[in-house]
Amino acid sequence: MTLAPEIAAVVGELDFDPEALHARYLAERDKRLRTDGVDQYVEVTAEFSHYVDDPYVEPGFTRAPVFDHVEFAIIGGGFGGLLMGARLREAGFDRIRVVESAGDFGGTWYWNRYPGAMCDVESYCYLPLLEELGYIPKHKYSFAPEILEHSRAIARHYRLYDDALLQTSITGLEWDETAKRWIVATSRGDRFTARYVAMACGPLSKPKLPGIPGINDFAGRTFHTSRWDYRYTGGDPSGGLTGLSDKRVGIIGTGATAVQCVPHLGQWARELFVFQRTPSSVDVRNNAETDPAWTASLTPGWQRRRQDNFNILVAGGDQDEDLVHDGWTDIFRNVTGTAAKQIAAKLGRRLTGAERAEVMALADYRKMNQVRARVDRLIHDPETAAKLKPWYRQFCKRPCFHDEYLQTFNRPNVHLIDTDGRGVDRLTERGVVANGREHQLDCLIFATGFEVGTSYTRRAGYDIVGRGGLTLSEHWADGLRTLHGLTSHGFPNCFFLGFTQTAITISVPQALNEQANHVAYMVSQARDRGLAVLEPTAKAEEGYVQEVRSLARMGQRFYQECTPGYYNSEGATGNRSGFFSDMYGGGPLRFFELLAEWRDAGDLPGIELSRA
Ligand code: NDP
Repeated sequence: MTLAPEIAAVVGELDFDPEALHARYLAERDKRLRTDGVDQYVEVTAEFSHYVDDPYVEPGFTRAPVFDHVEFAIIGGGFGGLLMGARLREAGFDRIRVVESAGDFGGTWYWNRYPGAMCDVESYCYLPLLEELGYIPKHKYSFAPEILEHSRAIARHYRLYDDALLQTSITGLEWDETAKRWIVATSRGDRFTARYVAMACGPLSKPKLPGIPGINDFAGRTFHTSRWDYRYTGGDPSGGLTGLSDKRVGIIGTGATAVQCVPHLGQWARELFVFQRTPSSVDVRNNAETDPAWTASLTPGWQRRRQDNFNILVAGGDQDEDLVHDGWTDIFRNVTGTAAKQIAAKLGRRLTGAERAEVMALADYRKMNQVRARVDRLIHDPETAAKLKPWYRQFCKRPCFHDEYLQTFNRPNVHLIDTDGRGVDRLTERGVVANGREHQLDCLIFATGFEVGTSYTRRAGYDIVGRGGLTLSEHWADGLRTLHGLTSHGFPNCFFLGFTQTAITISVPQALNEQANHVAYMVSQARDRGLAVLEPTAKAEEGYVQEVRSLARMGQRFYQECTPGYYNSEGATGNRSGFFSDMYGGGPLRFFELLAEWRDAGDLPGIELSRA
């Protein structure tokens, strides 16, 4: 890396060798690249389906099937579905039915109740509808039970329980062209119709397991982190896992979930074995209780202002003040395009593309050096410290923030079993084999994440049959095809919320809120103009698909150099169903503007308008 002298002068002296770091990153990536990509995981169906049973409901729930008609069916009761329901209620829609496979609202916060579960995005931004509900979170970073309770409060506030079908999964969704309605079939024998449907299924909703030999052989207790078995471990999401005090516990995976629950396992298990393939980047958390004086100082509109401030900063925009001021805004300020912008300002000229890339890489090396130095500061044993250091760029994997995770490895009862990028070898009846050695266990916990990189309909668990029998899996066989990520040609009155060719922010619910507002606008317009059907034209859809594809190219280059993980489809960056492969690459601020400009146009451009 040879920087122009004027840039080198602004960047300052480097206390590291960028070439050596780059080479190390590539070597760590190469060690982990494998030919089976996302196929290394097994789908949690058939003999694995018990891994997704709901441990939080009483067994034996029954109810009579429904055969009625609603205005709006929302599939999924997480934040996407809740925000959709809220915005529709505000727009005056009456019959809104949320269908949810879980026993309650909450989505990811319903399922993820593992000890220590919390949200690492600031609660005052992340928890939606705080002003509408008159609620202030207890901490800067909320713990999962509070977020779950807030989800329920939203459902109560907007009367979403009234028509909800909980513990109910969709089995069929088919457009009836004659009646201009969707026919919805479910696992509980329901068959009802809906004028509109909104898919709010979430991007990380289906647990995955490693497809290693002997995966079903282990005879001890085993479960996935998103279905925590408190009957076995004792305790609750705040800890107190007394059932583990005489147990040898293993956990596979060291991602954002493991980072939060390992400290509790380390505290309570007789012995804990953490099986690591790739270490996470773990920076400072600094959680704090909400200051009542700060709460008292808030004025109406405060949440939106704070969310905008956060989103602008983490999208590379400028703000006079950083209201959230945390690890997220810090890395975005110092590592992303913002860093390059600051250098350009100091130079008084624009940077070339190559200069920009170099400056950002240097900022990234610096940041990751700090993260690695933190490991050295906190871990007593140098060998263990070396194994806990991440060797990749900050956004190759999800950055983590935690103040107790790393220190857990100083405990004498906690053993880090690093596999040098290979992963565990296999399971036996007695435990886990890693690096050729068997570790006997009483309990094995899979912190192995969620299915990503497979098709949308496989993750949803059903196909959608649109006009003329066209299925969504056919229509999206070569990648997503939408207008603004929200509607698709051939699927009238059907809306997709989430990560489908949209732009997402770090505070995901705010992106979902933008989408929900947009959909509520569209259906309100249809109602006011007497339109029976909303559907994008094939031309408008094609135009948007091309725009998304042309914007996506730069991100792909970045992820090619990354260690494998779900961000880059386990190294297969060309995967059309990958997590980021079909996002709107212009960034969230431009995307939200795009939606606003479309609404401002006033005549629903690109939508086929057919009257009732
Ligand atoms: P991840 O997919 O991030 O992590 C899975 C882990 O399992 C990785 O460490 C992976 O290693 C490991 N793994 C997979 N297969 C094997 C194997 N064969 N042997 C050993 N290890 C293996 O899942 P998480 O549940 O941790 O997190 C998922 C996402 O959920 C996060 O990225 C985040 O978006 C969200 N989340 C958000 C939180 C928040 O605070 N807002 C908190 C928790 C989760 P490798 O890295 O090598 O693939």
